[in-house]
Amino acid sequence: MDWSEYQNKLDEYKAGLENRSLIEKAFFFAEKSHEGQKRYSGENYIEHPIKVSLSIAAMGLDANTISAALLHDTIEDQKTTSRDIKKHFGADVAFLVNGVTKVDKIKYHGVQRQAESMRKMFLAIAEDIRVVVLKLMDRLHNMETLSSLPYPEKRIRIAKETLEIYAPIADRLGIWDIKAKLEDLAFSYVYPEEYKWMQQEVKKRVPMREYYIERIIPIVKKELGQENLRPLEVNARAKHYYSLWKKLLRYDMDWDLIYDLVAVRIIVSNIQDAYGALGIIHKNWKPLPGRIKDFIALPKPNGYQSIHTTVFCIDGKVVEFQIRTAEMHHEAEIGIAAHWAWAEAGKPKRAEGFKGSRFIWVTQLREWQKKFTKKNMDSAEFLEALKIDFFKDRIFVLTPKGDVIDLPEDATPLDFAYHIHSEIGNHAVGAKVNGKMVPFNHKLQSEDVVEILTKKDRKPSQEWLEIAKTSVAKSHIKSLLRKKEKQFSIQSKKLKSVELIVTCKNRVGILKDISNALSSLKINIEDIESHAAGKNYPSITLSFTPVDQSQIEKVKTRIKKVHGVYSIELKRFK
Ligand code: MN
Repeated sequence: MDWSEYQNKLDEYKAGLENRSLIEKAFFFAEKSHEGQKRYSGENYIEHPIKVSLSIAAMGLDANTISAALLHDTIEDQKTTSRDIKKHFGADVAFLVNGVTKVDKIKYHGVQRQAESMRKMFLAIAEDIRVVVLKLMDRLHNMETLSSLPYPEKRIRIAKETLEIYAPIADRLGIWDIKAKLEDLAFSYVYPEEYKWMQQEVKKRVPMREYYIERIIPIVKKELGQENLRPLEVNARAKHYYSLWKKLLRYDMDWDLIYDLVAVRIIVSNIQDAYGALGIIHKNWKPLPGRIKDFIALPKPNGYQSIHTTVFCIDGKVVEFQIRTAEMHHEAEIGIAAHWAWAEAGKPKRAEGFKGSRFIWVTQLREWQKKFTKKNMDSAEFLEALKIDFFKDRIFVLTPKGDVIDLPEDATPLDFAYHIHSEIGNHAVGAKVNGKMVPFNHKLQSEDVVEILTKKDRKPSQEWLEIAKTSVAKSHIKSLLRKKEKQFSIQSKKLKSVELIVTCKNRVGILKDISNALSSLKINIEDIESHAAGKNYPSITLSFTPVDQSQIEKVKTRIKKVHGVYSIELKRFK
C-alpha cells in the first residue's frame, strides 16, 4: 500500500487529522527501515505495520499512536534505536514504541496458573493503555496471517498465548469485537478438531436461524413503531465460534439449549427506550422465566451493558433479544477506546454505571476519565491520565520456575521470600537475583529472577524489619521476633540466682571442695556461707545464677559426690 492509498484510508476513518505530517514521516521511515524485509506470507514486511496502524486509526486513536503503530517493529531490526525514534518523532511516540518492544519480551510458557499473573505483568509493563491496544492489534494481524508461519509448534504456542493472555486482556478493556476475533482465530489452531466440528454444525444450523430472524425483524420493528418507539437499528447477531463452543461445553453439547445462536439486537437512543422496548417485546411474546438479564442496571464486571431477554417468539420459536443504547453498543465494540475517542471529540459522557469490583482498575480508569472529562482537560492531559497508574508502584519478579510474583516498588528479597511462604522468609539465609548472590536489602527490579536460600536454624533479626517493605513480611518478622523475645524473657526469668543449702559433715576443706565443684563447671559462686549448727550437721548455703535447669542438676550431682555431703536443698528466689 502506498502513501496516497494509506492516506485515503485515514480520511475514511477521519483519523490522525491533528498531525498528518507526523504520520507521513512515520510511514516513510518505517518503509525505509523494513526495506527488503519479507513476511512468511511473502508480502513486504511494511504491510504488517500498515495494517496495524490502520486498525488503530479505525478505533479513533491519536496521530502519535498511529505513528507508533507504523514504527512498532522498527527497533527489533537493530538498525533503529529508541533514541532515533525520539529524535524524529518525539518522546511520546518513542515511549509507545518502547512499550511495544518491552511487552514483546514477555514469554508465556503456557502454564495455566500463570496466565493471570502474566496478564498483570503485561499490563504493568505496557504502562499505557495505548500500548496495550497497539499490542492487541499487532497480535490480531499476526493471528490473521498465522497460517503462513511454517512452524506448527510455534503456531500453536502463539495461538495458545492469544487465547490465554491477549483475548482476556481485550475482554477486560471491553474490546469485545477484538476479543471475539482473537478467540476464533486461535480456536482453529489450539483445538483444530473441535473447530472443524463447530464449523460444520454452525453451517447446518445458523442459516436456518438467520432466515427465521430476518423474517421476524420487520415484525419486531412494526410492534415497536406502534408504541412510538423508533429504534436506531434492529439486526441479527451470530454468536462467535469460540464462545459458542464454550457455552456448548457447559450445556453438554445440547444445541437446543443455545438460544442465542443468532440473537436479535435492538439499538435505541436512550436508556428509557431500552426498557420501553423490553416492555413491548414482553407484551407481544412470553418471556422464558429466569432469562431476563438487566446488565444496564447491573453491568457485568468488565463494564458490559445491555438488556437480554429470551422469549417464545413467532411460531413459538425461542429467540434472544439484546437491547442497548448506541453508546453501550459502541463501547461493546471498541471498549475503553470509546472513551478517549469521545472525550477528544468533546462529547459529554455518561456518569452512571460501571460498578464492577473484580476489575477494579477498569472501573478506576473509567472514574478518572469521568473526572478528567468534567474538568475539560485537553487531550494531552487526558492521554496522560490513561497511563496505567494502577501498576505504577508495582514490580513483577519471577521465581526460578517462572511464576510471576507481584510486589511493591522498592521490595527486597526478604519481601519476595515472605511472599512465597512465611517459612521461606523465616529461614532465609541468602538471596540470588538473576543467578548472583545479593544482600537482603537489594532492591528488586521487574523481570528479576529471584531465588531464596534457606537454613533450618536461621531466624529473623531485628534489622530485617528495616529491610522488608511489605506488610506481610513485616508482620511475620515482628511475630517471630516477639516469640524470640518471649523465650528470651522466660530464659532471663530462669536466670535468676538460686540458693543451695548443703547439709554436710563438719570436715576441714569441705567448703573448698564444694566451691571447686562449681568452678569446674565454670559457675561463678555469688555467695557462700557456712553455718555451724550445734549438735546438728552444719550447712553451707551458696548461691549462683544457673543458665538453665539442667545446670542446676549438674551442680547438685557434682556436689553430692563431694565427700561428706548428705543432702542438698534448692531454694529459688522469687
Ligand atoms: Mn508487529
